Amino acid sequence: MLQAKINQLLTEPACAHNHHHGDKKNRSCSQQAKPGAAQGGCAFDGASITLVPITDAAHLVHGPIACAGNSWGTRGSLSSGPLLFKTGFTTDLSEQDIIFGGEKRLYQAIKEIAQNHRPAAIFVYCTCVPALTGEDVEAVCQTAREKLGLPVIPVLAPGFVGSKNLGNRLAGEALLDYVIGTGEPPTVGQFAINLIGEYNIAGELWDVLPLFAQLGIQVLAKMTGDARYEEITYAHRAHLNLVICAKALLNVARKMQERYGIPYIECSFYGIRDMNDCLRQIARHFQSEELTAKVEALIAAETQKLEQELAPYRAKLQGKRVVLYTGGVKSWSVISAAQDLGIKVVATSTRKSTAEDKARIKELLGEDGIMMEGEGAQALLDVIQRTKADMLIAGGRNQYTALKAKIPFLDINQERHIGYAGYKGMVTLARELTNAMYSPIWRQIRQPAPWEVDYE
Ligand code: SF4
Repeated sequence: MLQAKINQLLTEPACAHNHHHGDKKNRSCSQQAKPGAAQGGCAFDGASITLVPITDAAHLVHGPIACAGNSWGTRGSLSSGPLLFKTGFTTDLSEQDIIFGGEKRLYQAIKEIAQNHRPAAIFVYCTCVPALTGEDVEAVCQTAREKLGLPVIPVLAPGFVGSKNLGNRLAGEALLDYVIGTGEPPTVGQFAINLIGEYNIAGELWDVLPLFAQLGIQVLAKMTGDARYEEITYAHRAHLNLVICAKALLNVARKMQERYGIPYIECSFYGIRDMNDCLRQIARHFQSEELTAKVEALIAAETQKLEQELAPYRAKLQGKRVVLYTGGVKSWSVISAAQDLGIKVVATSTRKSTAEDKARIKELLGEDGIMMEGEGAQALLDVIQRTKADMLIAGGRNQYTALKAKIPFLDINQERHIGYAGYKGMVTLARELTNAMYSPIWRQIRQPAPWEVDYE
């Protein structure tokens, strides 16, 4: 059953990565782990990234302590209300459970959580160990559901089945199988949308939601940043799905189109052009003159405000050369945000980018732009030196490469604590870039060390 699902997710037809590439064989969009090669997070990690932002649910990791302990709480998804999702629950399987089975222990843990925390739902993540010992996690969840009268959702994404991306999709399947379509919304407005693949990292969604509210666009369900369990149960009543900056949950968007007839569009909230484009795409979809007029008025007002707010930063950032080293759609969505500030992106990585992402990157970078396939720190250093870059924008662990190259660094990945989405986020991005670029520390670092200076 799981293998069939994995094969299906690896060949997701909505993902451009799977389309034919000349006469070559189709590639799978979520690459399988290669023995001997270091990979990112496991499938369980990917599944928990996707679902943990549901704030009023309890997230129970069924496995040895390390599965939860190594990754819990590293993501910066914020909540405007319940904080239950911040508590890590695990069954902490031991040798005894491996020999005699951990199903009873799992049921006991679910019961305890239900009684002590009264969550809106419990997500149970099956990790490698119970998957290998052949525990029937689905059956335990079903029994618990019936006995406790509470949604208990099995998430079958044990780490060994594949990459983090595959885990994202398996989490999406859990939502499709057990959550979406099980509830009804209190009201559905004229323009009701869902956001898919937006995790409210550092609270950046809160800079975008007021824009939708201003336009009369109702965000019915968020998957899953700052989400409540209930809103996802009625996501099937929306009129449009917005897939935000992520191919990871395309399977959810496509299947919601098939099952409920909800079309989807892909959007990015990073950068002025992309944010404008996103709002215009929504207006085009609804074909409402009133909405179109409101969108244009909002864009005009925001652009005027931004021109003033960004002017001092633009003056300092104009013409600066930046290397971007991140994965997936961020490779192009952040280029466009940087270009909006007058920055020249001289190179970017195309790790985890689809063919479609790469085409967009090429268009944005132009002929001279360098596209790196993620060859590691040394290659990144070479590119920084070759392009005479002024700054590196990348994930947290690349900051040491930037230090080695003696250039400023800005963290762009999931672990950051600053939001860059929407118009407000654009000003924040400009401020952070300027602060990093002009920090006096760089002058000091680039000076020769005392023992390198030739004293008379
Ligand atoms: S690979 Fe398996 S054992 Fe390792 S963290 Fe992931 S789920 Fe746990």
